[in-house]
Amino acid sequence: MKIGFPRALFYYDYFPFWSGFFSALDIKVVTSPPTHRQIMEQGLRRVSDDTCLPIKLLAGHIQALEDVDAIFLPRMVSVEANTYSCPKFLGIPESLLPAVPPGIPVLTVTVNWRKGKRQVLKDLQVLGLQLGKGRADIRKAFTLGQEWQKRYQDSNGSGWDFEKNLPQIESTAKRIASSQKDTVPLNEPGRLRIALVGHSYLTQEPYANLNLLRRLRKKAEVELVQNVNLEEVNNHLSGLRKKIFWNHAKQIFGAGKKFITDPDIDGIIYLSCFGCGTDSIVQGLLASSARETHKPYMMITLDEHSGEAGLVTRLEAFLDMVERRKVHEGYVSAHGEHLDSDSNSL
Ligand code: SF4
Repeated sequence: MKIGFPRALFYYDYFPFWSGFFSALDIKVVTSPPTHRQIMEQGLRRVSDDTCLPIKLLAGHIQALEDVDAIFLPRMVSVEANTYSCPKFLGIPESLLPAVPPGIPVLTVTVNWRKGKRQVLKDLQVLGLQLGKGRADIRKAFTLGQEWQKRYQDSNGSGWDFEKNLPQIESTAKRIASSQKDTVPLNEPGRLRIALVGHSYLTQEPYANLNLLRRLRKKAEVELVQNVNLEEVNNHLSGLRKKIFWNHAKQIFGAGKKFITDPDIDGIIYLSCFGCGTDSIVQGLLASSARETHKPYMMITLDEHSGEAGLVTRLEAFLDMVERRKVHEGYVSAHGEHLDSDSNSL
């Protein structure tokens, strides 16, 4: 059996789990190709205008899946205790049914970690029955999926790169393990350090973000939200009057606060998209926190009409400003130095 897995949205954070899960069940997972113009255009035709860019891309990727027996669209209600996914995640698969090519069945399962591991396993077993797999098979597949996911998450803090390692994730767990050693980037001393903050399916989606990550990496060391481990995220959530209950927003806020307080980070770019409700709150909180600590901060909002020229201009201006600040702002004039020296003491 061949299952189609769209290369969008939950793909960027949870593909290692699903890949491990299905490979243990001896089911082939086929992903849609990297985003290109036609995928984007197909997506725009199938969902309402006011939805966010990542959902439009998901609609396009669903239509790009060819020669598959079913399309897998999980309903990721909650991925950790006490949090929920964004409401647009919860509306999947129903909200995306108009994008599914006629004749191809949709395979779905509800994943709700708020209800605990036992319930998640039970729901996966229902999916397993549809696939003709027994309970013991599903338990094994669940364990392997979790193992792959853990390896992926553990390696995030070491600078592991999702995009570079994609072929490895897509093949075997062994390769995931070995790739961790190969891809830890070497930091060049003196280079700017910029944090790119935002949803993984935007910051690591080169077509949608107009190659922002690659452009940035040419000029600076880049830190991503996904490179901050959960413990650090949680450490930076204090001080909020109310808990953030969307899991992605919580991760972005916690990691963003860490970057703001980290003296080694020279500047922060928040990458958002039109129509994202959670970003509208988190971005405001991070922006005011950056202002208080005088951390250079820029917000970029994308949609399907965003153009490269505008992005490049803003990016270059921001990096110039950060570099200038880094090189010149801590500079104490010779006059000042003399005033403080012994020979010129006042
Ligand atoms: S969190 Fe924002 S960008 Fe992500 S699916 Fe929800 S609305 Fe869209």
